Amino acid sequence: MTGSRSSGGSGFVRARQRLLERLGAQGITDRRVLDAFRAVARHELIPEALQLRAYEDTSLPIGGGQTISAPGVVAAMTAALELTGSESVLEVGTGSGYQAAILARLASRVVSIERLPRLAAEARRSLDRLRVSNVVVHLGDGTAGRPSDAPFDAIIVTAGGPEIPQPLLDQLAVGGRLVGPFGAREEQSLYRVRCTGPLQFERERLGRCRFVDLVGAHGWAA
Ligand code: SAM
Repeated sequence: MTGSRSSGGSGFVRARQRLLERLGAQGITDRRVLDAFRAVARHELIPEALQLRAYEDTSLPIGGGQTISAPGVVAAMTAALELTGSESVLEVGTGSGYQAAILARLASRVVSIERLPRLAAEARRSLDRLRVSNVVVHLGDGTAGRPSDAPFDAIIVTAGGPEIPQPLLDQLAVGGRLVGPFGAREEQSLYRVRCTGPLQFERERLGRCRFVDLVGAHGWAA
């Protein structure tokens, strides 16, 4: 990615509108979620060579063997968090910063953790460029969460791990929701976990998915 960016012409506006229609057809009906997708310029967060594909419902490479998730997946996971605007949210796996920019419009503050230094630095720059001021990006192993900022009303894990990291469950507020992909390396199930009381959790399986590896102390080995 480079510092100079296209501001987005009518082609991007039309492509984003088509994406919104697709998200609606896929069952994303929450007006606030759709408004967030209308507002965030995905083409600003991916390598310039791929900009023309920014509003396809597909994951795209962002370097370091990592991807920006497909908009449909980002939308489904975001909707599953049931954000109302007041929440403190933890994201594990900042990647491009796209999911963080969407969450920033739907919650009060977002703490996002990325393990790869280049992606963390790039995402910080992108979020600054988009004037997103309520996201803090930290470099580190997100499977440990961020105890100093806990508890979180919502936690989203955007890489696939073998199981739900216990530190993340420990950092979920009562009433909070955790959404993420867990299971085998080749394919995971997308789960939503609700914290229904102190040390009490209810787990729902939302569907099948495939994510890049969640690498860390409570994830896969590097
Ligand atoms: N949310 C991102 C976006 O909007 O572009 C997409 C994330 S990409 C599918 C998964 C990201 O998780 C990668 O950037 C990867 O480096 C990161 N990751 C993997 N394991 C991690 C960990 N333990 N802590 C923090 N980030 C991790």
